[in-house]
Amino acid sequence: MKFILATKNKGKALELRSILKEHEIMTMTEAGYNEEIEENGTTFEENALIKARFLANKSALPCIADDSGLEVTALDMRPGIYSARYEATDERRIKKLLSELKGVSDRSARFVSAAALCFPDGREFVCRGEVYGNITKEPRGTGGFGYDPVFESVESSKTFGEMTDKEKNEISHRRRAFEKLKNIIAKI
Ligand code: IMP
Repeated sequence: MKFILATKNKGKALELRSILKEHEIMTMTEAGYNEEIEENGTTFEENALIKARFLANKSALPCIADDSGLEVTALDMRPGIYSARYEATDERRIKKLLSELKGVSDRSARFVSAAALCFPDGREFVCRGEVYGNITKEPRGTGGFGYDPVFESVESSKTFGEMTDKEKNEISHRRRAFEKLKNIIAKI
């Protein structure tokens, strides 16, 4: 199937192209859409649907979107849906997170992804994927993006920043959400 992906984030587009390799994916920029989509939902699922629906209402193709973020237990699940808005740059986001967790022994956290698919005819689907881990005391690794250097998955002793793209893509929250979506697509 051919989809438009509602993101301008190159890291996400790369990850999703590799996860959905049986399908053809155009980013919204490649499809000629440059609008800022307002994410005013209160859950990952709502925000993913808002983004995919926005493009599906404008185009003739099915549209997919991911809304994702980091939930930290000791911070009452913050930054959550505000992960991108927690600070201005990845470096500052990591610095702020580590300073909020200074001296905190419970470092448990999870990445969450909601994967949405909206068709121009109004059909909508949304799936969730999660990966559990711990926030490290110092950043490790330079791979990936966002909070990757401080997220050590419970399934590996590496942070996401120390993994190759292939290693991260095998277990990531986005992988898990989009695998579920792929099963739905296969039945459509
Ligand atoms: P979104 O683009 O609104 O979904 O924002 C997601 C934000 O959550 C990103 O800007 C990152 O800060 C964080 N995030 C989501 N997924 C990942 C990931 O796989 N690694 C690191 N950070 C992530």
